[in-house]
Order: sequence, then structure tokens, then C-alpha cells
Amino acid sequence: MLLAEQRRLLCEYGHRAAAAGLVVGTAGNLSVRAGDLVAVTPSGVPLDRLEPDACPVVDVGGHLVDGDLSPSSETPMHLAVYAATGAGAVVHTHSVFGTVVATTMSELPPVHYNALLLGGTVRVAGYATYGTPELAASVREALAGKRAALMANHGGVTIGDDLDGAYEATRLLEWLCEVYVRAKAVGEPRVLTEEQLADVVRRAFDPPTFPRRED
Ligand SMILES: [Zn+2]
Repeated sequence: MLLAEQRRLLCEYGHRAAAAGLVVGTAGNLSVRAGDLVAVTPSGVPLDRLEPDACPVVDVGGHLVDGDLSPSSETPMHLAVYAATGAGAVVHTHSVFGTVVATTMSELPPVHYNALLLGGTVRVAGYATYGTPELAASVREALAGKRAALMANHGGVTIGDDLDGAYEATRLLEWLCEVYVRAKAVGEPRVLTEEQLADVVRRAFDPPTFPRRED
């Protein structure tokens, strides 16, 4: 089977996304790239019921190369992201807190330093109908220089070097959105300043050292 390992991974992470409640029903789609080929989840199949041979393979130009089912309707968005970034995998979900933020805000400000792992402030891509080239273009713009974007009144999308990286970015994006929404219910969240974020970056390059005790 063409891209057998990539198709197996799509099922593994598709099952995990469904079990984690990041998608409901047939929502959400994942893809992984290998050279000029992309294995993607199929249209109309709930992620918790995915089987490897049900996952189509397309080329980066959008031609179907292998598989009996139609590629996800968001495949044009995945291909636009691959064309604009060096990503090895893309994950798109309709997670609850991500969608709450995407429905009410124009960006997710960095209120926790872990936002730096996604590129800091997360942009909300302008609304367009699902599956359209307009949505693909809007997401591509919102992702510039980032590992995550939210899609207005729709959900979230993340990229990674591989499927594990893209999936973990989706989990982090959802966590950051949940923290923001819950914080907002208590009071006005404090947004970290550029200086505070720069200090975090410096700290990451200069971690504390622990000299071994001489006995
Ligand atoms: Zn969607």
C-alpha cells in the first residue's frame, strides 16, 4: 500500500483526536506529507472509525493518486499550507475552546509563555465557506511564521514537522484557548509583554545548571 506508514499514522492520530474530544462526528481532518505526495483523511468518515486503506493519497497539485474514497473537503487548505510552509503534517479540528475563541476574537493573545511554541499570538483567519480556495488562502495568510491559526467561526489548524508535532500543537492550541476563555470568565486576562516573552526565549537558551555534588 502506497504511504502505508503515513496512512497508519493518520488513523492513530485520528483516533486520538476523536478520543480527546477534539472533533465530533465527521468533523476534522489530518494529513501528512511525503515528498510530493500527501496522505489525507477521507471525506465523510468519522475519525474514530478510520482505517488505513480508507485514507486517500493525493499529490501536491491536488490529483488523486490512490484510494477509493474522496479526500477530505478541506484538502485544498492542507495543500495550500504545504505550498506555503515546510510543514510535514497538518491537523484541523473543531475543538470547543478553539472554536469559541475563533467565533469571538480576531486573535488569541499570549497570556501564557507556552504560546511561544506556536509562534506567540495566534491569528484568526477571516471567515470563508469550508473547503473553498478563499478559506485556504485565508488560513495560509494567518499561518505565516506560526505553527497554529484559528479559523473564524470554524475551528483551528496546526502544522508540524510530522504528525506527532502537528497533533501536539493542536492539543496546545486548545489548552491555550481554554485557559484564555476560563481566565476571561474570572477577570481580564493579563497579556504577556514583548519583553516578558523575550525573557522566556533567552531563558530557554540559558537554562539553570545543577553542578554535581562532590561527596
Ligand atoms: Zn472544518
